[in-house]
Amino acid sequence: MAEEEDFKRTIVYGESALSYIKRNTLPAYPRNYELWYTYSAGFNHGLNRAINDILTVKGRISPEEVQKVYARFLSPNRLSDRIDEVGAKVSDEVNDLVEAIRISTDATSDYGLALEKASAKLKGLTDTNKLRAVVAHMIKSTHAAVAANKNLENQLLDSRRQIESLQESLESIRYESLTDELTTLNNRRHFDLSIDNAVKMAAANEEPFALLLTDIDHFKKFNDNYGHQTGDQVLRLVALAVKQNIKGQDTACRYGGEEFAVILPNTSLRDAIAVAENIRKSVLSKELVKRSTGENLGRITMSIGVALYRAGDTTQSIIARADAALYAAKRSGRNLVKCETDPEVDQIGSQVA
Ligand code: GH3
Ligand code: MG
Ligand code: MG
Repeated sequence: MAEEEDFKRTIVYGESALSYIKRNTLPAYPRNYELWYTYSAGFNHGLNRAINDILTVKGRISPEEVQKVYARFLSPNRLSDRIDEVGAKVSDEVNDLVEAIRISTDATSDYGLALEKASAKLKGLTDTNKLRAVVAHMIKSTHAAVAANKNLENQLLDSRRQIESLQESLESIRYESLTDELTTLNNRRHFDLSIDNAVKMAAANEEPFALLLTDIDHFKKFNDNYGHQTGDQVLRLVALAVKQNIKGQDTACRYGGEEFAVILPNTSLRDAIAVAENIRKSVLSKELVKRSTGENLGRITMSIGVALYRAGDTTQSIIARADAALYAAKRSGRNLVKCETDPEVDQIGSQVA
């Protein structure tokens, strides 16, 4: 059943990809196919937006533009390539600046020499015409020195603008490297950094934090029934429900496919359970309707495990306890929040502390 669905869906994307390739008279290289397949599937929103922008303005897209979109959204090296690009621009900027400073220093020393010469000539000079000529020369040298300074100033202003734009590029690279594209929540890499940091802070300050691990119930069946794309829309909705039920310093991340993790700093077990209950209820309360057809898809539910930091915890030990609580929630019937101290949870963490 699921295989047949996958077969039908992916053939449609594949055929659509080929028709885009033909329409834009592009070579059917695997890379081009990948790009248009992704475009047809519609899950890479940045890529679709970039292509649509070009198509809206020009009606078609050139091989060079395709290559640029590929490099930006699909190339496996896209982030490191962009970092290399920023690095190269910084290096160019520094070279330009060093050159501008060298020219300005030369001009200043030329000006110094011109003044010394003028001062030597002025000694004992009484002829007004000759005096005028020396002064005229001094004015000319002064203008040249002012112009060289002006050049340096312009170069500095230009560099400042360039550096500001490079800072923005770095900020966007950083955002992309820590953000999950589908849900716009923090990604797994962000989670790994945040939980390590939370454990270190908790150990240093004796301020405990709580960890929620969530997993959508029977999501495989949902995908099988309604397709992966609808499943993706539901993931976005669930991510929104998670986001709407946390605040301030809390960190919500996409932990895996249909699993989310929330780190709640400075939070008691009781408060963490309350947050988890709010998330669970909020997901349960949404009646899912397929936008394109108006079809009612019913509701989905999620199970949540809660653990609280204990002295001596490592990243792995607290995750293992939250995971055990999540597993207990699944085993106890799903659509439930369980915390590590509930009797049905295997006390795997009891050796800690
Ligand atoms: P359980 O209640 O035991 O959690 O059942 P389940 O079917 O949800 O089982 P499990 O958590 O092991 O399965 C995860 C399923 O989630 C597999 C896959 O179909 C779906 N899934 C994972 N990542 C994605 C994704 O990015 N998009 C979509 N649409 N589905 C995903
Ligand atoms: Mg799962
Ligand atoms: Mg699941």
